[in-house]
Amino acid sequence: MLNFNLIQQQSPNFNNRIKNYEIDMLVLHYTGMVSTQDALERLCNPSTEVSAHYLIDLDGTCFQLVKETSRAWHAGKSRWAGDSDINSRSIGIELVNPGHQFGYISYSDTQMGALESLSKGILTRYPIPPRHVLGHSDIAPSRRQDPGELLDWRRLAAAGIGLWSNETLTIVNEKKSLGPGATGKEVSHMQKKLAYFGYGIPTSGAYDKETYDVVMAFQRHFRPEKLDGLFDSLCLRRLLDLLRQIE
Ligand SMILES: [Zn+2]
Repeated sequence: MLNFNLIQQQSPNFNNRIKNYEIDMLVLHYTGMVSTQDALERLCNPSTEVSAHYLIDLDGTCFQLVKETSRAWHAGKSRWAGDSDINSRSIGIELVNPGHQFGYISYSDTQMGALESLSKGILTRYPIPPRHVLGHSDIAPSRRQDPGELLDWRRLAAAGIGLWSNETLTIVNEKKSLGPGATGKEVSHMQKKLAYFGYGIPTSGAYDKETYDVVMAFQRHFRPEKLDGLFDSLCLRRLLDLLRQIE
């Protein structure tokens, strides 16, 4: 049972999921707009061709815009674990937040509580593994920053929604960070591990712009205390820990 207010507001922006796709992903977003009303209008305007299944307002009020069985248009050009039709296999939730462009704010306890309740319900209805609970930036690292580093992924994971790593920094054996311009085996090792986790990243051995974008996305989700695009030893420890969790 939902323990929050659910308002039906049908968006025309959806179509059928591609046949043979199972719903096995949950993608979180922020609206990136100043007001809730603007966001709702955009997500329900046929000319924008964007939508999501749900939108959660700052006060925890939840709007259902698209039926779960339909294919909402929230992922855009994106990629995870080699698949690029993320809309066909996912449920998309928008969280009201002005975003990095208009004054990024923390997600309130009420909004997070509604997100938890809604997500738990979704996870009981579909076989969505924890490693498939992702942010828009995870599946479109070069285009998107949402839902951003202020989302409390640790809290969600503690509620059984998605993954988290509790690895902490150790002073001993501190290795040099990898960053833009680096090349070689350590870079390709990092790229392969990130690709194995699911990120769309080339395994060229060159720390290029695309690699930087993926490392930033990884940090936003799993190392939000340090957003600099440098892959340090704690990024590596957390990535290896996450890979152990999905084995
Ligand atoms: Zn988004």
